[in-house]
Order: sequence, then C-alpha cells, then structure tokens
Amino acid sequence: EVAVRIDSYSTSLRYPQPKSLMSPRSDVMTVTPWLAPVVWDGTFDSSIIDSLYQPQNLRIGTTVFAIGKYTRFIKGFLETAEKHFLVGYKVNYYIFTDKPEDVPSVALGPQRNLSVITVSKFFRWQEISMRRMERILNTIEERLLKEVDYLYCLDVDMLFHNHWGAEVLSTLVAAIHPGYYKNPREEFPYERRPASQAYVPWDQGDFYYAGAMIGGLIENVRALTRTCHQAILIDKQNNIEAAWQEESHLNKYFLQHKPTKLLSPEYLWDDTKPKLPEIHFIRFSTVLKNYAEVREN
Ligand code: UDP
Ligand code: MN
Repeated sequence: EVAVRIDSYSTSLRYPQPKSLMSPRSDVMTVTPWLAPVVWDGTFDSSIIDSLYQPQNLRIGTTVFAIGKYTRFIKGFLETAEKHFLVGYKVNYYIFTDKPEDVPSVALGPQRNLSVITVSKFFRWQEISMRRMERILNTIEERLLKEVDYLYCLDVDMLFHNHWGAEVLSTLVAAIHPGYYKNPREEFPYERRPASQAYVPWDQGDFYYAGAMIGGLIENVRALTRTCHQAILIDKQNNIEAAWQEESHLNKYFLQHKPTKLLSPEYLWDDTKPKLPEIHFIRFSTVLKNYAEVREN
C-alpha cells in the first residue's frame, strides 16, 4: 500500500534522539485510548516526517466549497495555503462554486494545481453546508479515486497562519473542535434525539470533532462521505435535521469509526477565542464573518 509506506528513511539525516522516559508534552493528551496520535506542537519533527513522506510523491486533494457570497474567502484561503499547507507536496485544490467566474487567479507553487467544479446553489445555508458530503462523494467516485492518494476537505472561511504539513497524513483524520476540547461529553452539542441517524447518547462520545476538516486516504474519506450522506438522506425522509447538520453526522461516524490521527485545535482554531497557553501555534483559523450578511441570498 504505497500511500502509507513509511519504510524509506535515509540514514543521512541527523536529529535529536527520542527519549523513552520523556514525553514531548505534559500539558496535553498526545495519544488517545485507542492509540491514535493527537498532533500538537512538539510531538513531531518535520524533518523526519518529510524525509518519510516526500519520496513517495503523494498526491493530496483538497476540496473547498465557495457558494454564494463565500467566494470572497477563496483568495485568502489559497494565498495562505500556498504559504503553509503541505508546502513541497503535490496538491490539487478542487473548488466547488456556483460562480466559477468569481474564482480569483492565485499564483500556485510547483506541483500545485486547481480545478473549479461548478455546482448549483441551495437556498438554505444548512443545505449548502450539508450537501458537501454528497458532492464530495460523487466527485471522489467520478475522478478523485484516480487523481489523489489523500483527501482533505476544508471550510473556505479560514486562513492559514502557520505550518500545516505532512504530520496530518494518516488513514482517517479528525480535528478536535476548538470550542469543546475542555468540556465533559455531556456538554458536546451532539444530536440528542434518537430519531436522528446522528444520535449520540449522553454517556457516549470521545471528543467533539469539527465539521470544518475531514481527512485521510481517499478510500477512507469515500467511506465516511458515503455513510454520512446516506444518514443525511434517511433523516431527510424522516423530516429531521441534525442539530449541527453534517457536523453531527460526522461526530456519529467518528464515534463508530475511530480516527487514526487527531489534529489538536492548533490545526483548526476559532478567531473569536483568545489564544491559550497550550496552543503554541494557531495554524489554521476562522475568518470573523457577519453570519447574517454572508449567508443571505
Ligand atoms: N458554504 C458556502 N456558502 C454558504 C454557506 C456555506 O460555500 O452560503 C460552505 C463554505 O465552504 C463554508 C462551509 O460551507 O466554509 C461551512 O459553512 P460556515 O463556514 O458558514 O459554517 P461555520 O464554520 O460558521 O459553522
Ligand atoms: Mn466555517
């Protein structure tokens, strides 16, 4: 399996010895009870990571939706992604929009490409956000299985501020939501109505994961989007919409299919929150927006 091969290390690289009796961080959880790493600053050495992944010539896809007024966010997203997002890797951006003429031209680095995929606009913002699962699934099956090894699906109303590199690569990757990482599970905004496919009982749940980032090997992201899309369809037939739309379904999915790697809130921050001591770097964060204005038709 080419995409997860990590056996090609060249012994010419010199780096500090990992210490068996020293944990890289004592203030945060760095591994889950199912032994998935949680990626925080200090837990990885980029030079080792790159020496393992660079020789594999991996193709990384990134889906971004910019529908209606959200096309205004594309420029900042792409310009900052070119500075921080998997720099040095082969990256294909897939921009889904109803206004292809509004996609700005942004200078892309070597081995980086952009495809525009024209889609129709749905009336409600909830529907726009939720339909991403269906559209990503269809695009995976039409072309992405052939075009990429890994796929990362990101919100567009975001900017990169620091390194967001190959340490994020893994089979199935979730990001811990910046708003809930200190809360007990009873306070997670999971869907609590048993009638919904996204239902999570009060005494279950590991983390609250953010809907703004899904990642992993293309086959694993395909399985995730297929299951979430089907669950959303069943809810629709039953006239129920989960509390946080696709984010609720995603959280149900990750409860049943544990992610193999978790990104700490460094990797998905919220600009309305103050920077806290455990956050050494804000790597990718929301752009403050006027919800009423940007979501109106
Ligand atoms: N989106 C869009 N047009 C809309 C609403 C949403 O393109 O009118 C897409 C966009 O990619 C956005 C994502 O859906 O980043 C999620 O919506 P939003 O960012 O508004 O949700 P929030 O992150 O604020 O919960
Ligand atoms: Mn967003």
